[in-house]
Amino acid sequence: MKKLAILGSTGSIGVSTLEIAAAHPDKFEVVALTAGNNLDLLKKQIEQFSPKMVAVITEESAKKLRKMLGLKKPEIFHGVEGLITAASANDASMVVAAIVGSAGLVPTVAAIKAGKDIALANKETLVAAGHLVMDLVKRHGVELYPVDSEHSAVFQSLQGHKYENVRRIILTASGGPFLDYPLDKLSGVAVSDALSHPNWSMGQKITIDSATMMNKGLEIIEAKWLFGMPPDRIDVVIHPQSIIHSMVEYIDGCVIAQLGVPDMKAPIAYALTYPERVATGVKPLDLTDMNTLTFLKPDYDRFPALRLAYRSMTGGESLPAVMNAANEVAVEAFLTGKIKFTEIVAYIEKTMDSHQPHSLNSIEEVLHADKWSREKTRGLIGGGK
Ligand code: NAD
Ligand code: MG
Repeated sequence: MKKLAILGSTGSIGVSTLEIAAAHPDKFEVVALTAGNNLDLLKKQIEQFSPKMVAVITEESAKKLRKMLGLKKPEIFHGVEGLITAASANDASMVVAAIVGSAGLVPTVAAIKAGKDIALANKETLVAAGHLVMDLVKRHGVELYPVDSEHSAVFQSLQGHKYENVRRIILTASGGPFLDYPLDKLSGVAVSDALSHPNWSMGQKITIDSATMMNKGLEIIEAKWLFGMPPDRIDVVIHPQSIIHSMVEYIDGCVIAQLGVPDMKAPIAYALTYPERVATGVKPLDLTDMNTLTFLKPDYDRFPALRLAYRSMTGGESLPAVMNAANEVAVEAFLTGKIKFTEIVAYIEKTMDSHQPHSLNSIEEVLHADKWSREKTRGLIGGGK
């Protein structure tokens, strides 16, 4: 029986994780849940899974949830301390890190320090603090399993092979909703257009990241840390159908790929049960259903976020953390109508340009760089359009 603590249980990944847990009650017990503002859904999850503890962001939410539940159990914690408590819950053997953004960093680090294996969806943790997190993973002897579909595909394509025989990693990218959109009209796209991803149903932030392709940029950095691969051996190929989830090329020219219909339940389940596999309810792949699978080189003019991501990896330890935080602020500004779509990446670049990169020797220093970047980007954006 695997005992799960799920951080971000009301999100897209959290909900899919709970669907897998519900389908295999003989394999999983849910011992802790954390969530942000969706208390109605959290209440339903508590009633279905009876976790021993939950954590929410504010004290006010904690009180409200207690009232809504009308019971003494489970224990309810709040704030960052509450997240840390849930992430290091005594009886959890695995923590699913599915909070969005760098808010996931501190609880994920707490889980690693408490000796928990991690199923990592929260890529921002590795983007902001990859070297420190990977060091902690080693020091505490825990396993870090990728949930991100591309990284799960790479992880699966590496099974049974020798690392020294890998030539490169090829991450696939759908290209998002604006792959063929007229470049000169991109600045005027509506929030609703940017939120309609052709293949995947995901949380808002990652959906916008997919439209700018900052998501792929973050994933290159994630791959660098997860697989110890230098950036010049991580390539991106646009594959609009999202059937091949990523590939590994070996020195003999053989390429191993992982395929499947786009449904996060497959990579989530693999992270939860590795090296076993379980039924997920994911629709079987029928290749004869597809007319064609196509592949394109990424266009850096259309997707300048990719260039920023490569730049961040060679620009000093703090630069990826700064890029990541600037992205979070800019995406939020776009979602609330303060800036245009094309300004997301422009503001990130401005923040990166005004940053003096430095080394990051502790999580506190990462949080400091993150905070600096948020304030800088907010200042640059100012009052609005
Ligand atoms: P989401 O927005 O749907 O859910 C985020 C969850 O985190 C929610 O439960 C929310 O309440 C909680 N949360 C948000 N801000 C918080 C904060 N400040 N403190 C504590 N909790 C907070 O996001 P998602 O799409 O499920 O993505 C989660 C993570 O997984 C992201 O890092 C994303 O990049 C990654 N990911 C998602 C997908 C996907 O298909 N959705 C695929 C690959 C990777
Ligand atoms: Mg992905």
